[in-house]
Amino acid sequence: MPSIFGHAVAGIALGVAFADEKTPRRAWALGTFCALAPDVDWFTAFLKVHPGNFLAHRGITHSLLGAVLIAASVLLFGFKREQRNLKVGTYLLLASLSHGLLDACTSGRIGVAFFYPFSSSRWACDWQPIQDAPLPFWSGLQLPFLGALLGEMLWIGIPASILAISVQLFRRNSDWQALPEVEPEG
Ligand SMILES: [Zn+2]
Repeated sequence: MPSIFGHAVAGIALGVAFADEKTPRRAWALGTFCALAPDVDWFTAFLKVHPGNFLAHRGITHSLLGAVLIAASVLLFGFKREQRNLKVGTYLLLASLSHGLLDACTSGRIGVAFFYPFSSSRWACDWQPIQDAPLPFWSGLQLPFLGALLGEMLWIGIPASILAISVQLFRRNSDWQALPEVEPEG
């Protein structure tokens, strides 16, 4: 999996793309949470859960259904009624979906069960430019972790920044074009 930084960057970039002056501030934090939340299944690495089991890593929490459930729960419990709208919901859903997509583009031993419960098949992209980031807590893994972080800057950070800046520029340009023409005086 990418590190938590890689997933967080994707969540924040989507937030930048969606945010406007009406977006509640909590949307940023909760959107980033959605981008990280599917890895709640990480602890199963310490249990004797078969890697193909739907509860194992990259199983149900990484599926499309999991993304919908995460986004819907966060929208329901994380926002006041007047703050809930289609735009915030879409942002939360895309942030949740970004996790599985990035994992599928990451080298690793197991794919993502995108279509669980309709299919238990694990899916992975043919092209996996992102390196699996080892946890840097054990000696000898700090350097590979830093290498993985550099890769994430390249393959997640740069495209995410381009996306966020492009959407903001497009929106500003649209706002500018939408300004009413001012009648000359006199
Ligand atoms: Zn994951």
